[in-house]
Amino acid sequence: MTETEIPEDHPRYASLVTRHRIEAGVEKGITSKQGLIAQGRGEAFDYLLGERTLPSADAAARAAAATLLSAERPVLSVNGNVAALAPAETVDLAEAVDADVEVNLFNHTDERARRIADHLREHGADEVKGLAGDGEIPGLDHARGTVDADGIEAADVVVVPLEDGDRAEALDAMGKTEIVIDLNPGSRSPRTADVPIIDNLIRAVPNVTAHARDLADASPATRRDAIDSFDAAEALAEAEAAIRKGTFATPDDEVPNDEAADAEASNADMVGDTSAR
Ligand code: ATP
Repeated sequence: MTETEIPEDHPRYASLVTRHRIEAGVEKGITSKQGLIAQGRGEAFDYLLGERTLPSADAAARAAAATLLSAERPVLSVNGNVAALAPAETVDLAEAVDADVEVNLFNHTDERARRIADHLREHGADEVKGLAGDGEIPGLDHARGTVDADGIEAADVVVVPLEDGDRAEALDAMGKTEIVIDLNPGSRSPRTADVPIIDNLIRAVPNVTAHARDLADASPATRRDAIDSFDAAEALAEAEAAIRKGTFATPDDEVPNDEAADAEASNADMVGDTSAR
């Protein structure tokens, strides 16, 4: 079945499209087999979140847009899952916030990086970084720490969707402002981020772009407010509370504040130490 053959009125349409894109990414040599496993993990969390954008994830997307618009050298990091799931949406976001796009792979091969760069160009990217590999993220081994010197190494703000926890922590140690998109609020990467967006990449990237377009002509004070009014710990707690509430959530459901507060209080116990992953 091709993507266009999936019936739009199917109750699990979005999920089926996502699966199809990841499968096509593997076939095209841009997504790794580990990427399939990461997708499965993400799907499970999305199911528990009710496959919707929580109000706190929307606030995170707005804070992310304001942060990117205020950045000097913003970079969007693209791995095999991002390239398969949202190539055109990533290029749109890069245009809206004037950011560079850099291929950055956990399981790096030159061949896969080149294919991803080509795939992004097919979806409208002018310039794609990540093929020079002349920079590094200190504290990581060569394979995982290689980046472009004039890309991620020099960036002040990086968007790292579906990032590995070690690399998120190493980027944080370099002093980068990190925006992480990840469906698991217990994963190390969003817990390290300045702006964790707990949402499906497929919904989050266009949402950040929409907020960026809305904030493009906003005053510095309005942008500052979007950043300052966002509370990362609260957003993680709200997502966790929604997940604990389970799969019966509907898009209109609010997560009561006391539940979010309870979740925050017991966060360490319930989420557990993910550092061994
Ligand atoms: P960490 O090292 O930070 O603890 P992890 O071991 O949980 O990370 P992986 O197993 O590599 O990370 O999984 C990738 C992460 O990407 C998971 O947290 C998963 O929820 C998330 N993910 C997968 N697909 C999507 C998607 N479409 N949108 C957002 N997040 C996703």
